[in-house]
Amino acid sequence: MAVPLVIDSLDFACNAEVRRGKIAIARFQRLQDYLANNSGELEYAVTGALDANGRPVLRVDIQGVVSLQCQRCLEELEHVLDIHTELLLAQNEQELQSLDEDELVDCILAQPEMDVLLLIEDEIILALPVSPRHEQDECMPGGREDGKATREASPFAALAALKKTH
Ligand SMILES: [Zn+2]
Repeated sequence: MAVPLVIDSLDFACNAEVRRGKIAIARFQRLQDYLANNSGELEYAVTGALDANGRPVLRVDIQGVVSLQCQRCLEELEHVLDIHTELLLAQNEQELQSLDEDELVDCILAQPEMDVLLLIEDEIILALPVSPRHEQDECMPGGREDGKATREASPFAALAALKKTH
């Protein structure tokens, strides 16, 4: 059975607790929409601490590889995650609003039952590229069946050439 990943976020920060482990990528429900396949797992660590000003924070570290779909050739694209975020814990909505306005930090509302899995998933989704693409020399526009792709593309190439002359 999977270990429940629920923390009392303020206590967790004030007691400098740490949770670390591995999570199967298939467990992140919202993340599935972004993935070409969901095999494998990610390493995570959530660390409670007080920042330099004595305010409670959660540090979130996530490492691993997710499989996205290249927006140019539609083939799989391995994307390396190496996320290190510090989230300031606001103790109520009012504090959250003022921190959001004033600070150059990410801020979340402290919850007595915070689901670490959702927190990690949020950070992963925020870190994903908007339009993932292979490097130019690794990309395969038209797919891997090169011969077929070339034949299909040729009428359009001919048409384009024709248009240019007129
Ligand atoms: Zn590509």
